[in-house]
Amino acid sequence: MKNILFATSEAVPFIKTGGLADVAGALPKCFDKKYFDVRVILPKYACMKQEWKDKMDYVTHFYMDLGYKNCYVGIMHMEYEGIQFYFIDNEYYFSGPKPYDSAPWDLEKFAFFSKAVLSVLPVIGFRPDVIHCHDWQTGLVPVYLHDSFQQNEFFWNIKTVMTIHNLKFQGVWDVKTVQDITGLSDYYFAADKLEAYKDANFLKGGIVFADAVTTVSNTYAEEIKTPFYGERLDGLMCARANSLRGIVNGIDYDIFNPETDSCIAQNYNATTFRKEKVKNKIQLQRELGLEENPKAMMIGIVSRLTDQKGFDLIAYVMDELCQDAVQIVALGTGDERYENMFRHFDWKYHGKVSAQIYYDEALSHRIYAASDAFLMPSLFEPCGLSQLISLRYGTLPIVRETGGLKDTVEPYNEYEGTGTGFSFRNYNAHEMLNTVRNAERIFYDKKREWNKMVDRAMATDFSWNNSARQYEEMYNWLIGEK
Ligand code: ADP
Repeated sequence: MKNILFATSEAVPFIKTGGLADVAGALPKCFDKKYFDVRVILPKYACMKQEWKDKMDYVTHFYMDLGYKNCYVGIMHMEYEGIQFYFIDNEYYFSGPKPYDSAPWDLEKFAFFSKAVLSVLPVIGFRPDVIHCHDWQTGLVPVYLHDSFQQNEFFWNIKTVMTIHNLKFQGVWDVKTVQDITGLSDYYFAADKLEAYKDANFLKGGIVFADAVTTVSNTYAEEIKTPFYGERLDGLMCARANSLRGIVNGIDYDIFNPETDSCIAQNYNATTFRKEKVKNKIQLQRELGLEENPKAMMIGIVSRLTDQKGFDLIAYVMDELCQDAVQIVALGTGDERYENMFRHFDWKYHGKVSAQIYYDEALSHRIYAASDAFLMPSLFEPCGLSQLISLRYGTLPIVRETGGLKDTVEPYNEYEGTGTGFSFRNYNAHEMLNTVRNAERIFYDKKREWNKMVDRAMATDFSWNNSARQYEEMYNWLIGEK
């Protein structure tokens, strides 16, 4: 039996701010239980729902040094859907209204968490063969392991994996403060270790000291070796190229299943969608006050409203797009300028555009089910889950060819009769608009072709199974077994 520990700052269903929570919640369930004992460790945040906190059992507590502070480390435990979850308790660090606040407080918080992850292992008697770290919040786990912990025999030969879910977020602050916070010696604050551009960088530390580095799609793994996508760490990514691989994310096929989804008005599957899917559209048009027209092409958007997701392209051509026979439904929160942009177009094209500026899981399902196409013109996209959900719901993605979007959406080829969506290459608003218009043409003039594409989209498999096998292979390789 091989022991694997996921160290993460969030996991569904306990706490979620983004895609990382979906990964850390769903992936551990998909490993072969005959060979892998995969457990998960995360902070116990005060902002977690009370029902979860009530279900946790107290294991024990002890005190740990962190810089000049001596900190309480409580260990809580819960088994959930067959997986052992451990929660690190410390009211000083994890009491805020949200998991993340701002630097440098967050850096101290996750330095504490990273060190605590290692400290609790002998206490709970779980010796992982591999510690799988996720994003900058756990970047110091491989660093602390390299530092003091390896003096203890218990930690000898534990391997580490650093997975980058989004290279944009790195956990950066000035060296002096980070030295004080972490208690790490000068040795670690050199350009070939934690230091990057004169600051200390948690993610860089993780990438340098981990035995293997992964990111969440093949194309993103290539892209981050270039200056445009490399977020100033492209040199490091090139240096670690031999240990870097892309493993695409999946989605939970039990949660995202149009056949059983209780959030949507009408269930359907790959054989019934031609008749049934449209009922979701009519229902959503009623719900959101859009013109009731089953024949109108509905384009869905469910997203964080940030530059990453390509909203400046949408803003630039929205007026032009609204001259077409389309309806646009957007659900999202984020940058004020994009929130207001959508509010403006909702007002200007009332009945044709609907903007819902909040977070609503159930409504997101109804949009995936109701829409004909899903627009996601990201500037960069490590993996992207929304396009995978769209494929599963027979809603054809319109995407820019970057990162995971490029790896998971096969562009429509009119002559070969292949493809599962529409895509464009350059980050250019009119290139996007032309691609949307090509989709409109197929939708209105070649319905049979459109429906065949929906057949192909719904037949793709982006469940976690394939990815879990690749992670298993990597763990085996790291541990030194075939
Ligand atoms: P990222 O992690 O970069 O935000 P992903 O596409 O990987 O983007 O994952 C986003 C997930 O969050 C998707 O499942 C999407 O449906 C969901 N989501 C984003 N915004 C909202 C919202 N306002 N309401 C409900 N779900 C949302």
